[in-house]
Amino acid sequence: MSDFTKTKSLFHLPEGMIYLDGNSLGPLPKAACDHVSDMMRDEWGKLLITGWNKAGWMQMSTDVGDRIARLIGAEPGHVITGDTLSIKVYQALASALELNPTRKVVLSDNGNFPSDLYMAQGLLKSLGPDYELRVVNPEDVAENLTADVAVMMLTEVDYRTGRLHDMKSLTALAHEKGVITVWDLAHTAGATQVDLAGSDADFAVGCTYKYLNGGPGAPAFIYVSPKHVAQVRPALSGWLGHEAPFAFDLDYRPGTGIERMRVGTPPVIALKALETALDIWDMVEMADVRAKSIELCDLFISEVEARCPTLTLASPRDGQKRGSQVSFHFADGFAAMQALIARGVIGDFRAPDIMRFGFTPLYIDNSDVMAAVAIVEDVITNNLWDRPEYKIMGKVT
Ligand SMILES: *Cc1c(COP(=O)(O)O)cnc(C)c1O
Repeated sequence: MSDFTKTKSLFHLPEGMIYLDGNSLGPLPKAACDHVSDMMRDEWGKLLITGWNKAGWMQMSTDVGDRIARLIGAEPGHVITGDTLSIKVYQALASALELNPTRKVVLSDNGNFPSDLYMAQGLLKSLGPDYELRVVNPEDVAENLTADVAVMMLTEVDYRTGRLHDMKSLTALAHEKGVITVWDLAHTAGATQVDLAGSDADFAVGCTYKYLNGGPGAPAFIYVSPKHVAQVRPALSGWLGHEAPFAFDLDYRPGTGIERMRVGTPPVIALKALETALDIWDMVEMADVRAKSIELCDLFISEVEARCPTLTLASPRDGQKRGSQVSFHFADGFAAMQALIARGVIGDFRAPDIMRFGFTPLYIDNSDVMAAVAIVEDVITNNLWDRPEYKIMGKVT
């Protein structure tokens, strides 16, 4: 049984703050400061270039990948970290398209995060005018798996509403129709029980700064199924994905297995910070995290609906069909969220009218939910958001 009182004690959570935004940026593991500064002083400082071998920096991308693999149901040795998620989306999509060369359509949905769609648009433009990105409503994906679709590229959880796709059944249907799948786990890794191997997923990508708590700018990850990894051609064929980077050959030859999805030098300092978050993840089972997350979300929904009738639920009511976030529509949602933030309840706002709250069992418990609900009720029923200073938008919302 996972001990969430213990895990909560391992995060730095500022006094007076209820942090319901771990779906955008997880909090700081207390051990990260020492772990990173020890590495800087003892490894970077003393070992310098020899740290790549002596401190194992080069292996970190796959070592950390294996620790993430456990959390997403991936086979060991099939996840590698590095770069940002947008880059990993490009890489996965490019490789997936080449596995299905007679077809030219990428199918996605309008609940996908814009960066994924932008990366697809950029890639397809480079590939030529025959290629098309087809974006449909999330509920219409299955019926749009037509004979011209090469790749189905979906983000499992809708970043605005928290609606969760059924990975297993959509992947099975895609395969039946000859379609390769790319799943973005940005809002599912560390949030729900993902079973990549059991779902027969082809490619998956995700980031580590949201639910996984790796810190701002923490590296992304990519998964390639064992059935494809020896065949896939990396479109971003950087030197560290080469079979023998230090042979300095002039021609690219892909590395063995998942190593070929490396591009350049790994972000060692960021990986060190992520390691401390994964030490906490090692203490829990995803089944327990999922069960507790549904309990916290259900509690928040029932309390908010009972006390704030002007907020309307934007997320699925059924916990099994929802990620680890709850969203409400509210016309003055931006100002209301600023008023909540001023009172220490940190959620975020997504245009046009979504107030979004993330629930993360590692450091949020029932008493946090009840304390947050009391503040939401005060702000909404007393119109405390209706002040000019809450209507000024910053660069990041
Ligand atoms: C957060 C998120 C991103 C962000 O990509 P970065 O390259 O890490 O900035 C991309 N896609 C999805 C689905 C996301 O949720």
